[in-house]
This record gives sequence, C-alpha cells and structure tokens, in this order.
Amino acid sequence: MKKFAIITLFPEMFEKVLGTSMMWKAAEVGAAQFHLVDLRQFGLGPRRQVDDTVYGGGDGMLLMPEPIFAAVAHAKQLLEPGAKVVLLSPRGQTWSQPVARTHAASPDNLILICGHYEGVDERVLEIVDQQISIGDYVLTGGELPAMVLVDSIVRLLPGVLGGENSAAIESFSDGNNLEYPQYTRPEVFTTDTGQELKVPDVLLSGHHAEIARWRAQNSPRRP
Ligand code: SAM
Repeated sequence: MKKFAIITLFPEMFEKVLGTSMMWKAAEVGAAQFHLVDLRQFGLGPRRQVDDTVYGGGDGMLLMPEPIFAAVAHAKQLLEPGAKVVLLSPRGQTWSQPVARTHAASPDNLILICGHYEGVDERVLEIVDQQISIGDYVLTGGELPAMVLVDSIVRLLPGVLGGENSAAIESFSDGNNLEYPQYTRPEVFTTDTGQELKVPDVLLSGHHAEIARWRAQNSPRRP
C-alpha cells in the first residue's frame, strides 16, 4: 500500500478530490492511503502563525520553517519509516509519466509539502528529498500540484484501474506515444448544423489485426 501525507494550509481542497473516482478507488481497494496534515495546527503562538515577511525585503509572505518541520515530523509518525519528503515548487524537477512511474514502483511512502504565499523558507530544503514542479507556470499554492502527483501515481498502482493493462496502453506508457483516437456510440453522430460525424469503418469491421494497424498508424507521437 502506498501512503501519502499531504501537508497543506487547505486540507478541505483535497477532501472531494481524494474521495472521487480513482483516488477513492485506490483507497477502497487498499492500494493507497491518504492523510491530510493541516499546517495551521503547527502554527506558532495563539494565532497559529505559519508565515512571515521576507528577510532582505520584498513583497509577500513566506512559510516559516518551524511549522513545516513540525508538520513533517508528525507526518513521518503517520507513515512507516523511510517516507520520502517532496516539496512542490516551480523550481523542482518537472513531473512526467516516467517520474510518476518511478514513484508508483517505489515502496517509499510520500510526504507532500504544499507551499503557499511566496513559497517556503529555504531552510525547509534540509528535510526535503525531492522538489517537483508540474510545469513552467506559477500557481497560488502546492495543492493542485499535489493532487496531480497523487492522481498520476495512484492510477499506476496495481488494482486501481479496471484492467491490469489499462495504464500500459495509455498515453506516454511507451515513451512519447500518445493514445489513438477512440469512439463510442452512435456510429453516426449528426450535429445541430446537420454535419454527419462517422466512426471510421475499420473500427466497425471486427478485424482485430486491421484495427490494431489503424490504431498504430493513428497514435500520434510527441515531437
Ligand atoms: N515565489 C515563488 C516563485 O516565484 O517561484 C512562487 C510561489 S507560489 C505562488 C506558492 C506555492 O505554490 C509554491 O511554494 C509551490 O508549493 C506551489 N507552486 C506554484 N507553482 C507550482 C508549480 N508549477 N509546480 C509545483 N508547485 C507549484
């Protein structure tokens, strides 16, 4: 079982997502377990302060080290020893299907730290094993990136997708290949402007070899 502890100021953002579709199923079949760690609980003083201004000047607030160190220590107690700590950060290694596959195959449990405001105090890196970015853009917090990581990992865990081969035939499963076009009923769909959109004949032919050839020919590859 893969266990995740997600450290966030906004645990409520995760409740719906983790309780839906494949993430719900992953927990249901015992492939994954999710813990939400509310960073605010580890804030300092009566107001549970988690952020402060930036030394040297500059706009915005930074997450302080003490609450994050305490939240990570707590998360480590929730998971088995050896959990890896991942900081979501625009500076990190770019997330991709091969990186997701490496995490899914690893026995290590994961602690995900979601930054906010201007990010986290640099000293937090002392307890971080890996920094991950989900792309070259800046989001408000690490919550959406954490959801991206969790979703893309859990669907690779055995028993989560319907067929054991489902993940093996998806986009990026074999290098840069992308999935072929797929169709469902009706065979002919008429749009409101009267245009008839048909399913390619070969897919209705029942000839498995020809269908496989057509799919191979129509699987785009990323340049
Ligand atoms: N000041 C930071 C900078 O310029 O790089 C941006 C901080 S961002 C507003 C707040 C938090 O969102 C980050 O600490 C990180 O946890 C998360 N975040 C934003 N964009 C991200 C991305 N592309 N990938 C991963 N995490 C991201």
